[in-house]
Amino acid sequence: MSHKVLIANRGEIALRAIRACKELGIKTVAVYSQGDKNLKHLKFADETVCIGPASPLESYLNVPSILSAAEVTNTDAIYPGYGFLAEDFSFAEKCEESGFKFIGPNSKTIKMMGDKITAKSIAEKAGIQVVPGYKDDLPDDPDKIHAIAKNVGYPLMIKATAGGGGRGMRLIESEDELLDGLEITMQEAMNAFGNKVVYFEKFISNPRHIEVQIVADGKGNVIHLGTRDCSIQRRHQKLIEEAPASNINPELLSNTLDACLKLCKDINYEGVGTLEFLYENNAFYFIEMNTRIQVEHPVSEMITGFDLVKAQLKIALGIPTTLDQSKISFRGHAIECRINAENPRTFTPSPGLITKMHPPGGFGIRFDSHIYSGYEVPPYYDSLLAKIITTANSRSSCIKRMTSALDEFFVEGIETNHSLHQKLMHDDVFNKNNHTINYLENEFFKNYE
Ligand code: ADP
Repeated sequence: MSHKVLIANRGEIALRAIRACKELGIKTVAVYSQGDKNLKHLKFADETVCIGPASPLESYLNVPSILSAAEVTNTDAIYPGYGFLAEDFSFAEKCEESGFKFIGPNSKTIKMMGDKITAKSIAEKAGIQVVPGYKDDLPDDPDKIHAIAKNVGYPLMIKATAGGGGRGMRLIESEDELLDGLEITMQEAMNAFGNKVVYFEKFISNPRHIEVQIVADGKGNVIHLGTRDCSIQRRHQKLIEEAPASNINPELLSNTLDACLKLCKDINYEGVGTLEFLYENNAFYFIEMNTRIQVEHPVSEMITGFDLVKAQLKIALGIPTTLDQSKISFRGHAIECRINAENPRTFTPSPGLITKMHPPGGFGIRFDSHIYSGYEVPPYYDSLLAKIITTANSRSSCIKRMTSALDEFFVEGIETNHSLHQKLMHDDVFNKNNHTINYLENEFFKNYE
């Protein structure tokens, strides 16, 4: 049976999805906003449909418009990518109701795991250690709230159960910040996510961010592609990711991977997913599960040779595929640098015309990007321009390869964080793999010119 997939996204991930569809002989429909007429993947799609004005709310988040585009093109499935509607259970539900296969888990699973409090409870049931804290309903009585917080211990994090994208969390250092911080976080969560429920988590002071990539077919077969380390972050958002995470106690790692598989089996998970952890003092603490493809998926692909986007398509469309852990082997190391259109120090977005650019190339170098010379980066969307991924036998060779790839690469006309990545590749702490999630903001930038 022939398939047609509508790609409800833009930028590099839309291009990534089209490439995977082509390899599988799947027809594609690319949707785009009026601000995105010059996107590269539109040239490669079988059909294109404009879904509205540039504003994301009126286009990539405009559910009726996307579903109409699917209807008029006779699409049978919708690929959400990451961001936009990828973790919006009501979109998945509407796809299901309208007869389109949502490429990912079903809407109930997205809803369940998208609620961080529920996800933590499910993880605990699977034997996974979560960040200690308090996740029951908070009482109204301020004294009782203080008692709960004291019990969790300061410093603590107040986190929105519906939070995401680094938003909806607040560090509370001492009890005098608690009540105001609580009110502000709840208000912010209400405004951003339409849900003001929050929970308390112990603040893990100096962890690494480590995550586990899962693939499941919804029929009880679940595999993992090992770990990724995403500790180079700014504003709780990842900038560099690598696979595998190094220096983890092997027994602890093996138990954690088994528990991740168990969790996915327990909820009869379908599709790709990521379980995110903070790792400190030889312990993993689960923070959340993402029920979609992640930006950093290529590093796992490069060390396993397993195509995650093709797997998503095959699983969703019922194209035969085997998920067998014994067939997954791990080789070497991979690193990804996210090149963003932003000031490297202040992170202020820098949209505009790319007058000239040159992609890196060569052995062990992968360039996932939608940009080209003459492309105008619109101001309305995420600032991700390109992902440079290098693969080599060891972490140190991978860093050297990335250094050389970054030297070849240039973008003119707009500001990017290219120079920040170059500095990081030469940084001693990064090279020795001694960094934690706080390193970039709290230490590295102190010496940054
Ligand atoms: P989001 O869904 O917004 O990405 P996460 O829960 O995945 O939020 O957390 C994102 C990042 O925030 C983590 O990688 C880490 O840097 C920081 N963080 C989250 N929870 C804690 C915690 N309890 N202690 C310390 N840092 C945390």
